[in-house]
Amino acid sequence: GNTGNGLVAPISTSPNGHFQSQNGHDSNPFPHASHPLLSGGTDLLVQRLDELREQPVRLLFDQSGRRGIRHEAGAGRVVLGAATTASQLLESELMRRLLPRLPDYLKLVSSTPIRNMGTVAGNFVNASPIGDLTIMFLALGASVTLADASGATRTVPLAELYLGYKKLAKAPDEQVTEISFPAPRSDDFFNFEKVSKRTHLDIASVNTAAWLRVENGVITAARLSAGGVGPVPLLLRRTGEYLLGRELNAETVAGANEVMQEEISPIGDVRGTAAYKRLLLRQLLFAHFLRFVPELKLVELI
Ligand SMILES: Cc1cc2nc3c(=O)[nH]c(=O)nc-3n(C[C@H](O)[C@H](O)[C@H](O)COP(=O)(O)OP(=O)(O)OC[C@H]3O[C@@H](n4cnc5c(N)ncnc54)[C@H](O)[C@@H]3O)c2cc1C
Repeated sequence: GNTGNGLVAPISTSPNGHFQSQNGHDSNPFPHASHPLLSGGTDLLVQRLDELREQPVRLLFDQSGRRGIRHEAGAGRVVLGAATTASQLLESELMRRLLPRLPDYLKLVSSTPIRNMGTVAGNFVNASPIGDLTIMFLALGASVTLADASGATRTVPLAELYLGYKKLAKAPDEQVTEISFPAPRSDDFFNFEKVSKRTHLDIASVNTAAWLRVENGVITAARLSAGGVGPVPLLLRRTGEYLLGRELNAETVAGANEVMQEEISPIGDVRGTAAYKRLLLRQLLFAHFLRFVPELKLVELI
């Protein structure tokens, strides 16, 4: 039927991943599995509005089973429904407790009306190399659960979803149902940095997130992500490995920058030259560490 906003949406997907017609009767999933998945539409409707007016879509946004943020204390993981919006992340008590500065980071993402619609899975699957939520969740070590048209599920690390520019290790009929990440400890470090031409309501030139665990003065676990410096949102694995076993000091940061510069491959575009993006990411790496260790001497880094 017509949803009232001009979109024809004769089918929807139930929370268990099976397809239903809108009158609630099961229908054969196969004719519909190729229809586009529409969540908040803040990417898809911008990109393909005319085309989507003409065809059915699989609506995900209003599926109650795709919402909610919970802490699975036993497994030590936080689990979110795929259609969790940026606003729901921002307002979540649980997320604020685990990541106290998350609201500040999320205020750098789009605007209130767009955050009310834009979902976490939509950001992941849109696969922009500068997706802000993707960059945050890469550093959080997120995994995604994918369900195919038959309801079969598999879980993959978010970083393994990205094969090349807008090329995903995901079949078109597969939808993200859940996202999870290991709950950070209160003494872990997490930070997100974004540089854009305009501070608010602008996409990033370069963005990056960092998560570190430090025990007895030594980094014992690390994840660093970066966007706008390659064809996909990057988990900088080698830079993360470099940090292991090292102290949080200027020498470590300088060494990490050298490895990081080898791991990225920015190109020049409207948002700046390749050299500018390399410099930006270096500065943002420094910003992470200055946030973690305010007494680090910036002059020692430059
Ligand atoms: C004005 C404006 C400003 C913006 N600013 C920013 C910004 O600052 N930072 C930023 O990162 N982004 C920004 N965006 C982009 C967008 O808001 C986000 O990427 C958002 O998270 C997309 O989510 P969505 O639910 O709207 O996705 P949709 O548009 O519904 O879908 C995007 C893609 O994901 C697929 N998809 C959605 N959900 C699923 C699922 N569960 N399983 C499988 N596939 C799925 C769709 O088929 C489609 O291919 C902006 C957009 C606008 C219009």
